[in-house]
Amino acid sequence: DKGHHEKRLIEARLADIGQIIMVMANKGGVGKSTVSANVAAGLAAQDYHVGVADADIHGPNQSRFFGFVGERVRLSNKGLPPQAFTYKGIKHPVKVGSLAFMMQSDDTPIVWRDAYKHDFMHHLIGSFDWGPLDFLIIDMPPGTGNELITLADMLEGHDVAALLATTPQEVALMDSLKAVRFCQDRKLPIIGVVENMAGVTCPHCRGEFHVFPRSHLAAALSAAGVESLTQIPLSLALSSGSDTGVPVVLSAPKGPEALAFAPAIAAC
Ligand code: ADP
Repeated sequence: DKGHHEKRLIEARLADIGQIIMVMANKGGVGKSTVSANVAAGLAAQDYHVGVADADIHGPNQSRFFGFVGERVRLSNKGLPPQAFTYKGIKHPVKVGSLAFMMQSDDTPIVWRDAYKHDFMHHLIGSFDWGPLDFLIIDMPPGTGNELITLADMLEGHDVAALLATTPQEVALMDSLKAVRFCQDRKLPIIGVVENMAGVTCPHCRGEFHVFPRSHLAAALSAAGVESLTQIPLSLALSSGSDTGVPVVLSAPKGPEALAFAPAIAAC
C-alpha cells in the first residue's frame, strides 16, 4: 500500500545519510534559516557531502539563501533532484531541497491543513533524491507543532541531533527553552545553541553594543544542560548574504561572521 511504499522509500534515502541535524527555533525570525545555511555551507567547505532540506513550509527561504530564486525542479525516475549549489573551494555541491522549487510562483502562499503538511514532510525526505550525504541539515519550521513531531517520528532510530537558534532576548529565550524541553522529552540530543543577533559593532567607532539584552540567557541554558556554542553578531554581511544567495561563511571566510560560526560548525 501507499504508506508502506512511502516508508520504504524514506528508509532507503535515510540509509545513505550520515548525520541529520534539525535546526530549530521556537520563535520565528531569530535566524534559524541563516544558521542552517551557514552551518551547511561551512560543512561543505570542509569537503563533506551536505544537503539542506527546507522544512519551513510557510517561509521556504533556503532557495533564496543559496541563490535559487525562481528555480523549479522536475520529477525524474529517481525522484526530485535537489538544486546543486556550487562555489569556489567547495568540492561537493550543497544539495538544496525546498518546497519553493515545486511552487507555481514565488509569491504563492501555502494554505495547507495538517494532513498536507504531514505529507510534505515525507516528500521532503523521501521524494528528493539526496544521494549519499555526510550531513543533512533540516531547516525546521518555528515551534514544536505538527511538522516537528512528524519529522521526529520519521527520523527515529537514525543519527539525529538538534541545533537550536535563538536571539539573546528573553522572549526568544523562553521559546528556546520549550524547544529544549521537546528535545529532552524525545531524547533528541542537543548539539547546542547558537545565539544570533548577539551584539552589533558600530561601523564608525568600532564600539560594540547589544540590541537584545543577554541577561538571563546563559544561566537559563546551562541550567537546562545546554551549551551555548557561539554568538553571531547582527551584521550587514549576514543580512545581505542571504539576499545575494551565497552564505557569508563562503563569501567572507575570514570575516567576523565566519569566525563566529566556526564553533557551531565544529560542534556538528
Ligand atoms: P528564521 O529562519 O528564524 O525565521 P532568518 O534566518 O530567515 O530567521 O532571519 C530573519 C531575517 O534576519 C533574514 O532576513 C536574515 O537575513 C536576517 N538575519 C538573520 N540573522 C542576522 C544577523 N545576525 N545579522 C543580520 N541579519 C540577520
